Amino acid sequence: MNHPTLQRRQLLQWAALGSAGLILPRGTWAQSTVSSTPFSLGVASGSPTHDSVVLWTRVMPPVPASPNSVGVGVRWEVAHDDKFTRIARTGQSIAVAGLAYSVHAEVQGLEPDRWYFYRFMVGDAVSAVGRTRTFPAPDAAVASLRLAYASCQRWEHGYFSAYRYMAQENLDLVMFLGDYIYEYPRASNSVRTPPGGWTLTLDDYRQRYATYKQDADLQAMHAACPWLVTWDDHEVQNDYAGLTMGENGPEVADFAARRSAAYQAFYEHMPVRTSVLTRAVAGLSAGAEMRIYSRAQYGQLASLTMLDARQYKSPQVCTQGGKRGSSTVNPANCPAWNDSARSMLGTEQERWLDAGWASTQTRSTGWNIVGQQSLMGQRDWRAGPEQSLWNDGWDGYSAARTRMTDSARKNAISNLVMLGGDVHENWVGQIKADYAQPSSAAVGVEFCGTSITSRSGGNGKLAETMAENPHFVFADAERKGYGVVEISPKQLKTTLRVVSDVTRKDASIETLAEFSVSSGRAVVERI
Ligand code: FE
Ligand code: CA
Repeated sequence: MNHPTLQRRQLLQWAALGSAGLILPRGTWAQSTVSSTPFSLGVASGSPTHDSVVLWTRVMPPVPASPNSVGVGVRWEVAHDDKFTRIARTGQSIAVAGLAYSVHAEVQGLEPDRWYFYRFMVGDAVSAVGRTRTFPAPDAAVASLRLAYASCQRWEHGYFSAYRYMAQENLDLVMFLGDYIYEYPRASNSVRTPPGGWTLTLDDYRQRYATYKQDADLQAMHAACPWLVTWDDHEVQNDYAGLTMGENGPEVADFAARRSAAYQAFYEHMPVRTSVLTRAVAGLSAGAEMRIYSRAQYGQLASLTMLDARQYKSPQVCTQGGKRGSSTVNPANCPAWNDSARSMLGTEQERWLDAGWASTQTRSTGWNIVGQQSLMGQRDWRAGPEQSLWNDGWDGYSAARTRMTDSARKNAISNLVMLGGDVHENWVGQIKADYAQPSSAAVGVEFCGTSITSRSGGNGKLAETMAENPHFVFADAERKGYGVVEISPKQLKTTLRVVSDVTRKDASIETLAEFSVSSGRAVVERI
């Protein structure tokens, strides 16, 4: 399955290939004429820094290449204008056969805080043009950053109209917070049915990504600006935690193998750096981590952290019926609930997060934006002193949550803003130092986003749940869409954007609610 030459060093070299002195391995050049469009999954960019960005595409269907070749040679261009008359960089990369002919070109030496256009070429075929940008230099004074956060795009639940409107939001960045694909074979009352059944093998996951990525609205949003991406459970399986499988679908004998196949397909389809493959592609099947958590600096304005709350997570405890996976739990009946040995991020990532918050640069930054998978704030579903909490979210990892908020307090992290997903509902509120003490300090604020399409329960019990959990200032459990966060040195403004109906291709968009946060005050105010 994996080409023997796919060593990490080689992948890193290929990803960094520039215009000078490149010698591609023999047999990588495609014939000059390509029969059909090889760029049918579009283009994307991501993981930007102040001087570099990853350009992504996948050559599909594979253009003719000699059977023994490592892949197909792809040329790329980065320009200052969309007509490509003022070229900034050019280079060549290899669409690696063992990586589904995906391309991850890491373009270096770009100017900070600048927009670029890019495209790929193979033979005489030219890809769509993408637009991307670099971040401002870490020490630069920056007036604004506009980003959208999004999650949970179950393809059969609806059309991706949200992305059609997001592409018009004039964004600098998208933070994608998990559930890019879903592993299910179908859904009841669905608007469309994905080819294939349950995703279990590498080919299954590749096909699922290809199905999603043919969506024109999703392609347009990827082409509009760079993305920072993390994953949640459905990129592998519902409710999996670390190397413990979840509950849904066929049981596989070797869950680690399923997870590594899913991780490989994620890498193949996301604009992430090749360095996430800590031990190359072969390392994934040998159980190596795929290190997707990251931090980037957006000038002095913001530090952008992306967390991985799935790969290293301890298994859920006290799931009802003795099953794997998740359920609501009364913590009073669950001795393991507050076990401090249990972790959401894993020991190493927790240490990394704490060390990052302790660094001078992060502490002197205006805003600390953290993109992660789930709802941070406690959400008790039962009125009165008894509690009913969901064991897969942060509520099920309360000791780990307290370690995180304690670290933020100890390091005097300014303006902590957590962005989340997972729950398919909009939840907005203050992050508390101790959810058992309503009067305890607010450590930061959170905007947990609704889904792009994935279904949710509805607003039936919402007023009761809000009253039971007063640290939230707003919730909506019906509307689908995304959030836009506009950050300036003195103020952060969040706009919840929702589509009229995910089951209609011609859905319209509207604003559900707007909020502001003033620098130095961990308080969300509705505008
Ligand atoms: Fe989801
Ligand atoms: Ca209660």
